[in-house]
Amino acid sequence: MSYQVGQKTKEAFEKLIAIPEVKKGFDFIKEDSPNTLKDQLELVVIKAPTFQEENRAKAVAEKFRALGLEDVHLDEIWNAIGVYKGTGGAAPIVVEAHMDTVFPMETVIEPVMGDDGFIRCPGIGDNTSGTAALMGIIRAFKETGIKLKSDIYFVGTVREEGIGGFGGIEHFLNAHPEVSACVCLDGVQVGKITYQSTGMTTCEVTFYGIGGHAYGAFGLMANPLHAAARAVAKIADIVTPLVPKTTYCVSNFHAGNDAGVHAIVPEATIKINMRSNGQKELDELKEKVYAAIKAGAEEETARWGKDSITYKIHEYFNVPAGTLDRNDPIVEGIYTIMQYMGKDPIFNEGGPTDAAFPICRGIPAVCIGSGDIETHSHSAANERFPVAVMHQGPQAGFLLAILCGGIEGKFESII
Ligand SMILES: [Zn+2]
Repeated sequence: MSYQVGQKTKEAFEKLIAIPEVKKGFDFIKEDSPNTLKDQLELVVIKAPTFQEENRAKAVAEKFRALGLEDVHLDEIWNAIGVYKGTGGAAPIVVEAHMDTVFPMETVIEPVMGDDGFIRCPGIGDNTSGTAALMGIIRAFKETGIKLKSDIYFVGTVREEGIGGFGGIEHFLNAHPEVSACVCLDGVQVGKITYQSTGMTTCEVTFYGIGGHAYGAFGLMANPLHAAARAVAKIADIVTPLVPKTTYCVSNFHAGNDAGVHAIVPEATIKINMRSNGQKELDELKEKVYAAIKAGAEEETARWGKDSITYKIHEYFNVPAGTLDRNDPIVEGIYTIMQYMGKDPIFNEGGPTDAAFPICRGIPAVCIGSGDIETHSHSAANERFPVAVMHQGPQAGFLLAILCGGIEGKFESII
């Protein structure tokens, strides 16, 4: 079934792009690319593993300040926040990019410009490109003098990756429930639109027992490692629906140590990631996984009848599943922008992005890329970013922000 943008959005976009300052800002972003690239190269070398973003956040805040944003500050968890004041009359919007990376502190970060037009280094695309794009967008607003009705919160968020669980944007939205729309820039391809949230739970389960000698204590106690293994075997048999895509993975299994190779361990830990594009399906999966854990513990206890295996489940985070309508104005808006930019837009199915929390709270939000071609994000050896098309992410973000924020007397917000 082909996708159709409604007449209302088409007309709104034509009106928008006919405003001379808007077109000027759009063109300016391309000319300004060297400055955005400079920001990107300065930021990428400031290491920012998830939960260790403080230094990069300070640098981002410094850039916000230098560009004249108001009320620039870091919040309690180091989200870097600055406000581009509007004229009032509409609720604020957010333009954001996550600052954290999947690479640990010891990773060598040395950007190399290749003959093929790509810069290579860990984190250059995901998501230093999105973070630098924020600066390009701010400069376009300043250059053109465009003031939206809405204030724009520019936010460099923390805790997007891994067990960060989108905690940065979640924290920001908790503090700013008045936000009316969210434009997320992340280091994937321009032309791909994320308008859904893949729900996710990641947890750690530790099984406890007494522990003892592999020979001497045999038969006197249950083995927590065996209990964990029983649980894993049961989890491995769980069948999940293909639609909505629902997945699970036991991603970590840890017990014992080399010195204790002849010991019944006192504890064993597994980690599990569960995801679904449907909340109901995620809830059902979680129930089955937790039942498997319980059964693993009970069966191991019953096998020996000597002592009880206990267990504790620690949930690192829960991200809800949800979706916007494909014809939500913000989705139609970004689709139209992409087409204007010569793209053939693609909708992502689901999506673990910072747009997840706003989407699930009923706040119009999309996540768009700031690169163009596959950037091999999360690959320390291969991550790359195409310099020649780096203006496209900030251009799309700039236009979408105006579509959402409106201009007094000239342009009505589409949301
Ligand atoms: Zn990312």
